[in-house]
Amino acid sequence: MLQVRDLTVTLGGATIVDRVSIGVDPGEWVTIIGPNGAGKSTVLRAVGGVLPFQGSITIGGQESAALTRRARARSVASVAQTPVVPAGMSVLEYALLGRTPHVPVLGRESAADLAVVEGVLAQLDLERFAARPLETLSGGEQQRVFLARALAQQAPLLLLDEPTSALDIGHQQDVLELVDELRRENRLTVLATMHDLSIAGEYADRLVLLDEGRVVAEGPPELVLTEELLGRHYRANVRIIPG
Ligand code: ADP
Ligand code: MG
Ligand code: MG
Repeated sequence: MLQVRDLTVTLGGATIVDRVSIGVDPGEWVTIIGPNGAGKSTVLRAVGGVLPFQGSITIGGQESAALTRRARARSVASVAQTPVVPAGMSVLEYALLGRTPHVPVLGRESAADLAVVEGVLAQLDLERFAARPLETLSGGEQQRVFLARALAQQAPLLLLDEPTSALDIGHQQDVLELVDELRRENRLTVLATMHDLSIAGEYADRLVLLDEGRVVAEGPPELVLTEELLGRHYRANVRIIPG
């Protein structure tokens, strides 16, 4: 579903991501972990098409660089770490933004687009919030709405940048459980980033450990979440992994 080969991103004259290669199979969930500043968000933003890069990114077999913005938005949907919450926008209006790549003119969604969004809101148990201003929802509820907008895009690849970082531990589990369910029901492929190691291994099929812009380890969670690797690359604040 996703092939990243020798991805290099240079920002402000510095090499932030250095020849990173990551493959994600259809239906797979891969999580990028690594210390603050490792380049996790930068990898995701390059895959999401919002950063210039060197190397190759193919999504569903198509070169990302050759896709139009609309075509890319139909193949990959992203949830940023802290999405902007537009003032006064209702939950339904916000989720409808996910249909933008499918509608010819903004604000001219068809009945079919509306049906997609209503279906997604129902799936995420958000129907009762449809008319509420998004800013009046709790952090956990807002996170579900951000997911709703991304799902309304109906792209096969979902990018999640630190989906749990704004949530308390109980809601972290809920959101990841929900993403896992959606992955199965909607046949999604997931590429996420996560800083919190205690939860990262529970949901991902594979982990990629990034440090200073480079992949330093990659594999099943139990092989990557070792004290030796984490001690070396996280340097401080290493959380001991349960189990
Ligand atoms: P992570 O998500 O792993 O915490 P990021 O991808 O956000 O790391 O950032 C990696 C590094 O790139 C950081 O040192 C950050 O300061 C730097 N960086 C991010 N964006 C820019 C930019 N536009 N210009 C210069 N440096 C940047
Ligand atoms: Mg960071
Ligand atoms: Mg980040």
